[in-house]
Amino acid sequence: MQSSMMSMPLTISSLIEHAARYHGETEVISVETDGTVATSNWSRIESDARKLSAVLSSLHVSSDACCATVAWNNKRHLQIYFGVAAGGRVCHTINPRLFPEQIEYIVNHAADEVVFFDKTFTPLVRALKDKLQTVKHYIFMGESDDEVKTAIPEVLFYDELLASASDDYIWPALDENTPSSLCYTSGTTGHPKGVLYTHRTTVLHSIGGNQPDGLAISAKDTVLPVVPMFHVNAWGVPYIAAAVGCRMVLPGPGLDGDSLVRLIDGYGVSLALGVPTIWIGLLAALEKTGSKVPSLKRTVVGGSALPTSMLQDFRDNYQVDSIHAWGMTETSPLGTINQPLFKHLELPEAEYEHVRLGQGRPLYGIELRLVDDDGVQVAEDGESHGRLQTRGLWVVSQYYKASESALSEDGWFDTGDVATIDNDGYLIIRDRSKDMIKSGGEWISSVELENIAMSHPSIAQAAAIAAAHKQWDERPVMIVVRHENAELREDELLQFFDNKIASWQKPDAVIFVDALPLGGTGKVLKTRLREQYGRHLL
Ligand code: ADP
Repeated sequence: MQSSMMSMPLTISSLIEHAARYHGETEVISVETDGTVATSNWSRIESDARKLSAVLSSLHVSSDACCATVAWNNKRHLQIYFGVAAGGRVCHTINPRLFPEQIEYIVNHAADEVVFFDKTFTPLVRALKDKLQTVKHYIFMGESDDEVKTAIPEVLFYDELLASASDDYIWPALDENTPSSLCYTSGTTGHPKGVLYTHRTTVLHSIGGNQPDGLAISAKDTVLPVVPMFHVNAWGVPYIAAAVGCRMVLPGPGLDGDSLVRLIDGYGVSLALGVPTIWIGLLAALEKTGSKVPSLKRTVVGGSALPTSMLQDFRDNYQVDSIHAWGMTETSPLGTINQPLFKHLELPEAEYEHVRLGQGRPLYGIELRLVDDDGVQVAEDGESHGRLQTRGLWVVSQYYKASESALSEDGWFDTGDVATIDNDGYLIIRDRSKDMIKSGGEWISSVELENIAMSHPSIAQAAAIAAAHKQWDERPVMIVVRHENAELREDELLQFFDNKIASWQKPDAVIFVDALPLGGTGKVLKTRLREQYGRHLL
């Protein structure tokens, strides 16, 4: 039977064309690498993106080439997102905080033909350049710059290239299954692995991820993605922003609390998104400056667990709702978002808070299940732990250039997380399977210990790791950072765990440090901590 309906492909050009046509005047504010602020709008972002696509063709970049970016969140990066992908090429965002050897591996593995870079990363690009086998063009994201030219003589300048490009390029008609962007997981073990998204999965993620019970971004919002555009496409926010035509504030390199307060207050940001480490900095800056960030209504917190104290601080002192979300590179990344159900609205405050602290429930388009080590499904009763598996409209099926499927025989992706799910579908990540602490055959959740430690008023950051133990194989050790000027002894913190957790789960020791080591996406590097303190109890 033939349907009566049009069949329009789901393409990234349709997102940016919509933004330009219906929200052309809406501002895109961009902090440049030198700290100056540039104001653009969706209309100009779209026309510059088209010019860029034309430029790449005139530079003989293959029509389906991977083009890398090593860049902050700024307007040129946004133009590149669309100019590269809507033109049929693949926008490959690189996390500059990875080890240089990992970046070298990633660029060669992706066979990138172009590297776009911000000034900050000139030394990095210069150091790696001779080892990058497939790159034809290095394009500096700015005006002509003598310093950059001296460092990289063959460099091309983005602004010069665009200035000479004509505006009459039109987006090609693409099949919706054409690849559009590429992200590598940070690869704490082994080589980083690539996930190659398509136009179709990106558009579905933009629509599905932005439902009223999703990110719920609207044209009335001013959105500050603090999450970097090199961290799983800033959680899809650039595409969603184009689809809804919201105001955007792109923060550039200054991600410290003071800079964020200035941006939020200066531009009336209503929604900001980022990992918990970022919000620790913001909350400290708010306390210091006394700003109440009146425009800010919501923060989306993901990448690692939202600490109780953070939710409370935002809520009680700034009337900001923290929305907890879970996802990963392999899920584009939005998987679950914590939005309440009708029945939750009636709950007493403590119970309501308990619901809001978890990672939320699956968006339409994502399915979750829990299995045990034998692959047998585990009950979704809010208590039974299992390995979290997922499948859905924007979930990986095979890593880029891998020879095998990434899925189980029955088509599910194993996330590597250990979780519970309750009968409303609310997910709680109990741990990453490799971070769990196994004491005498019983599991202890590092996340739970960290949450308790973080709720102590003197503690700024906390990580629990498994330390080798003669009798119990592994026992928990806490590594913590105290707030500035706070005084707290080991025995006091250990006592703080009393009655909050079973006594055998209490940490054996506390180690005070000045800072926790962070990985490329702002998460605590537990591998490093285990190397350093894993033998503390022997
Ligand atoms: P990487 O950790 O290599 O940076 P991702 O950014 O894809 O890779 O991270 C995905 C993982 O991050 C998830 O599998 C999960 O362990 C963790 N994660 C993401 N969001 C949350 C969250 N809200 N709470 C707890 N863990 C989370």
